[in-house]
Amino acid sequence: MVSNTLEEALIDIVGEKYVSSELCDRLTYSKDYSVEGIADDYTPDIVVKPASADEIVRIVRTASRMKVPLYTWGGGTSMSGNPLAVERGIVLDMKRLNSILEVDPENLTITVQAGATIENVYNAALDHGVFFAHHPESSLSSTVGGAVSCMGISIYGAKYGYVYDQVLALEVILASGEKVRIGGKSYLSLPTHNLLNLFMGAEGTLGIITEVTLKVYPKPPTRDRLSYGFPDITSAIEACKSAHAAGCWPETVFLFDRRSLVQYMERSKTAIPDTISMAVLFGASGNSKMVRTTLEVISQCSEEQGGRLLPEDVTDSWWNSINIGKDTFDQSNFALSHTEYEPDLVDACVPLSKFQEYSDFCDDLKKEFGWVDIDFGAFIVGGPRGPIPFCIYFSVPIDTRIKSEVDKWFQFKERMYQRALAMGGSLSNANGMGLRSSPWVKEQLGSAWELLLGLKRLLDPDNILNRGNRGFAA
Ligand SMILES: Cc1cc2nc3c(=O)[nH]c(=O)nc-3n(C[C@H](O)[C@H](O)[C@H](O)COP(=O)(O)OP(=O)(O)OC[C@H]3O[C@@H](n4cnc5c(N)ncnc54)[C@H](O)[C@@H]3O)c2cc1C
Repeated sequence: MVSNTLEEALIDIVGEKYVSSELCDRLTYSKDYSVEGIADDYTPDIVVKPASADEIVRIVRTASRMKVPLYTWGGGTSMSGNPLAVERGIVLDMKRLNSILEVDPENLTITVQAGATIENVYNAALDHGVFFAHHPESSLSSTVGGAVSCMGISIYGAKYGYVYDQVLALEVILASGEKVRIGGKSYLSLPTHNLLNLFMGAEGTLGIITEVTLKVYPKPPTRDRLSYGFPDITSAIEACKSAHAAGCWPETVFLFDRRSLVQYMERSKTAIPDTISMAVLFGASGNSKMVRTTLEVISQCSEEQGGRLLPEDVTDSWWNSINIGKDTFDQSNFALSHTEYEPDLVDACVPLSKFQEYSDFCDDLKKEFGWVDIDFGAFIVGGPRGPIPFCIYFSVPIDTRIKSEVDKWFQFKERMYQRALAMGGSLSNANGMGLRSSPWVKEQLGSAWELLLGLKRLLDPDNILNRGNRGFAA
């Protein structure tokens, strides 16, 4: 339990209203959206809600002095358990640092505090006629700091990349309490060593991000989309590759299997031929001529691979369920979350040439575990950085209150992650490793693990920041 001295020190920094050791407040921060978060008790000892970077400096110094672990909390929408207070201690909620500091349409940048929600940043950019290219399904609640820390990707990723491709500058507070600024308003502001990469994707383990300057784009005048059904994964991927080779630069390339497609068909009351086992949704943006040409070339490449155009309402149903706004929230698959049917994911990457093999392995494993009728299927988000990640979402058909059932699910995931590594793949696409895949971080990094450990010890000698997470032992 929290000592009076710690509570008093935190109250002294942010005021009584913004510190709580009450159980009802602490419980709010005891779970994120991971099954790992449900499987154990991660209730923190105390919650603090600073309003400025200077307050955070003082909080971090207090935590370091008292050797109390401190867990940075953005929107708590993580699906990997990475904001959870694994070793109890302090949860530091970033949401009061939510200002849009500057929108600069002329230089195509936006500077925000890290606790701003993605939706607010996205809308602020649009209000100034520019486009912020990260719009995850969780945009209403997730924060910029969380997205940068988890290396998020969204439906626009095929053209604009991951969220870290949009980051130009960061302000970070280190475990020592030192405040550092890295980068500026252009890529030229970065020194020879791109230190941004140290803190992006670090899941709060190396520093606390307080301010972010992001790249924005001219708002595309037109946007359109269509989807194709394919007989198998290989033909779907070949269609994507030949469209790319033709010079197409779609903003959305999203592959999903028949099990996922069925949900959209049911919603749109459309029957899909038995021969279709994979679907790809393509989106294009730009002026109307560019959009039309892009979709025409994609259609041609898809049809050459045996693809069949899917009805428009299937495409719309998919788009509405993934591009969640307040008006489409009830269409989200995740509305089911935190019920007994918990959606969870195996967020592994495998090389492009291994997709079919990995998918077959997954199907065999499902049979072995008796989970043939699992609701959700495989999703693949096309990104511009080489191998397209293979991300499998399941609605876990278990009662998450029963430990043996949860353990069985964890065994399934372990087999999937081990296989991905054996195929030359990696442990995460866009959701961070957190507790979900942290047991295998060392294996993935190999000899580079010692280097990372050395950096962690240098930056956070007392292991204050997100202690026990992301493979850093407690
Ligand atoms: C319904 C749903 C849909 C989703 N869709 C997508 C999607 O389309 N694309 C996608 O990429 N993800 C998606 N996610 C996953 C999740 O929303 C993202 O990982 C998101 O970026 C997490 O942001 P957050 O603010 O909620 O962070 P949190 O969950 O609070 O924290 C995540 C990690 O970031 C760290 N962190 C947070 N803020 C800071 C900071 N300021 N400085 C340092 N570390 C920090 C935390 O310590 C933790 O390690 C989805 C999740 C849900 C529940």
